[in-house]
Amino acid sequence: MAARPMPYLDDLNPEQRAAVEALDGPVLMLAGAGTGKTKALTTRIVHLLNTGSARPNEILAVTFTNKAAREMKERVGRMLGEAVEGMPWLGTFHSICVKLLRRHAELVDLKSNFTILDTDDQVRLLKQLIQAAGIDDKRWPARQLAGIIDNWKNRAWTPDTVPAGEASAFDGKAPALYRQYQTRLRELNAVDFGDLLLHVVTIFQQHADILAQYQRWFRYILVDEYQDTNVAQYLWLRLLAGGHRNICCVGDDDQSIYGWRGAEVGNILRFEKDFPGATVIRLEQNYRSTPHILAAAGGVIAANKGRLGKELWTDAPEGEKVRLIGHWDGEEEARWIGEEIEAMQRGTRGMRPIGLDEMAILVRASHQMRAFEDRFLTIGLPYRVIGGPRFYERMEIRDAMAYFRLVVSPADDLAFERIVNTPKRGLGDKAQQTIQRLARENGVSLLDGAALAVEQGAIKGKGGAALRELTERLAVWQHLNRSVGDKAEIDRFREQIRENEILLDQATEELSNLQSTDIQEFSTDEEREEQLARISECELVVQQHRSRIEVIERYIEVLQGNHVVFAEIILDESGYTEMWQNDKTPGAPGRLENLKELVKALEQFENLGGFLEHVSLIMDNESEEGDQKVTIMTLHAAKGLEFPAVFLPGWEDGLFPSQRSMDESGLKGIEEERRLAYVGITRAEELCTISFAGNRRVYGQWQSQLPSRFIDELPEAHVEVLTPPGLYGGGYGAAAGGAAQSGLEQRVAEANVYNSPGWRRLQERAADRPASQPRGAKSSVIDAQAVSAHTVGERVFHQKFGYGAIIGIEGDKLEIDFEKAGVKKVVARFVMGTDD
Ligand code: ATP
Ligand code: MG
Repeated sequence: MAARPMPYLDDLNPEQRAAVEALDGPVLMLAGAGTGKTKALTTRIVHLLNTGSARPNEILAVTFTNKAAREMKERVGRMLGEAVEGMPWLGTFHSICVKLLRRHAELVDLKSNFTILDTDDQVRLLKQLIQAAGIDDKRWPARQLAGIIDNWKNRAWTPDTVPAGEASAFDGKAPALYRQYQTRLRELNAVDFGDLLLHVVTIFQQHADILAQYQRWFRYILVDEYQDTNVAQYLWLRLLAGGHRNICCVGDDDQSIYGWRGAEVGNILRFEKDFPGATVIRLEQNYRSTPHILAAAGGVIAANKGRLGKELWTDAPEGEKVRLIGHWDGEEEARWIGEEIEAMQRGTRGMRPIGLDEMAILVRASHQMRAFEDRFLTIGLPYRVIGGPRFYERMEIRDAMAYFRLVVSPADDLAFERIVNTPKRGLGDKAQQTIQRLARENGVSLLDGAALAVEQGAIKGKGGAALRELTERLAVWQHLNRSVGDKAEIDRFREQIRENEILLDQATEELSNLQSTDIQEFSTDEEREEQLARISECELVVQQHRSRIEVIERYIEVLQGNHVVFAEIILDESGYTEMWQNDKTPGAPGRLENLKELVKALEQFENLGGFLEHVSLIMDNESEEGDQKVTIMTLHAAKGLEFPAVFLPGWEDGLFPSQRSMDESGLKGIEEERRLAYVGITRAEELCTISFAGNRRVYGQWQSQLPSRFIDELPEAHVEVLTPPGLYGGGYGAAAGGAAQSGLEQRVAEANVYNSPGWRRLQERAADRPASQPRGAKSSVIDAQAVSAHTVGERVFHQKFGYGAIIGIEGDKLEIDFEKAGVKKVVARFVMGTDD
């Protein structure tokens, strides 16, 4: 065996080779991005097998994702030049622990066929426990408790070992609930994700014989992305490596991006203490990226404190500078990136043509993906989304679209079936069969069948009433849809508003008369009560007229062509939005966010019908399976990967770094975001393009965005600032009007685009002109309001005074209690909403 050739060693530099050949004893490879850590780790496996030091099933190798595990297996096979039969212990912490736990489940009172709960199940179970304990689950949501328990499990705390200092969480009730939850899980023969590790750690700690058996069995342990292990994972590794100490960990403290999930970068820094005499290998040559890309990444990460500090160098040719570009808004950004991708495919800027599968768009938040998907579908650019279904395939998006479809095409039976009982209206299988029968017998659509069912009273009880409401609402929406632009109809609605105003006036007057009468003038209790009843009835009438007026005003907007408001009305009145608002599962906020994204997507289209057509074309496209596709994924998911060309959009404060990290006191959050920026830039091999938008619709409101603070940290010498053509060539130029445009354009094009007066002017204009339609197409009532419509109590940002809360509103002036600057009156248009 030992005589086998080892060509794979020739592909390594001396340091990597040392890491591969130091087979026995602890090894730590601590090195920056792209220095070949993963490559060395993979080669180490090959070397172990090739030298006969271990059989495939004696190697325990941990990767961060299942995908990375598959790739590693493939590479090992390729390097060995033969298929490796099985590497059963190459996988993620979770996948390995599932196997171990199935073998020893009885030691923690489980059966080996235990079920693994997903987050939804977990939250549902916790909710039951919270309610059973007589705790208000509105004040103490199960979701929050799930987070707390996860966190504890990540730290390897069982109900018995939660430290007293932590026990105050959840009003002091969490530890007891944690204990009940664990009992309940055992009764159900179930575990959650956190348990997978924790149970195995417990088994190892309590059963020395079993631990010893595995210590002998796993002769070599290898761990990639060690900087992102949490305490439980760390303990697990330390226990297993305790005997032979043949453990090799690789990582990069600058790429620790899972602190929010309990990862402890300290684990990597402690390695030498835990394993005295460890061989520590540092790699400095980067084989992935050009010098400009490395320098840009290095400049950003340098702003973090408490780093180990690593120098990276490369002998690659200089290549292109990192490109930086600002756009008017998020749609414009997506449009530009789409065009760039097409140009790069053909070969641009003297570069080689770059294939679609060599390009990636890495976003901070998954809701950013929608704009790209839309744009790429429009121009027919193939893409794949990694980590989650594509936007229009998501359940909530399909539901919402079904409502829209039914408004535009009442005969769309599939759409009807999808929404008739979503949200739950008490229209189960039986009711739906009745509707179907009526439709069939009368040769009409399901919706008409439903109307017949209502007419004939064919569905009784709650479901019948709900169906009536649904069909009536749909009739109203369909009428609105048909009447868009109809002046006579608008006038009729205006007339209705006037009538309601008259009634409102009368009711208001009556109310004030009633209220001015002293209740004590009535001699008997009975009379007094009657008077109070009259007052509250009158209040109700006033309220009804008010909301009626509001509703009609919104309808008028719809008739004036505002289909964004229309979509909001449909989702509100159908109860669909509310359904998700009331849903306490962890996925619900994300779904609401996606619904807002959907409404935002509508803006680019003339009307609902045009939008639906666009999406149906999209869905058609899906069947064309080309292998060349642009990848869209989150920065977190991109760890360990590399692409020749990388786009990093949305570098704006509040988005990246995230608002949450900015609000946190201390630098921990921001530093983790900065490491994420470092991960992003270092994914690029040849070309890295960073972009930001001046306006973004966040949570349904237009906001002026400030370029990310990380942009300021990019070293100027390695960055080229591009002038955004779309900004002036397209809608903005047209809107800004002729001559004024060129001076502004020039100033914005100055090297420091984001510090230039031009950029600031752009910001101010953004506040002046909400830019709902950058292409200057139509006026939009709702957006004009959105920018000025602040509310008391709202948290806002002012360019000069920073963050504060609105305490009063007077015309276009806002009185704001600033966190740093105290109470000030400022002009509303210099104030931006924040997204929390
Ligand atoms: P990250 O920190 O991003 O996970 P890494 O340190 O794991 O990066 P690898 O992914 O292993 O780096 O390697 C980066 C790139 O450099 C890969 O394309 C790899 O094939 C190449 N590479 C690594 N070592 C060498 C080498 N000695 N000679 C040539 N190319 C190498
Ligand atoms: Mg790697």
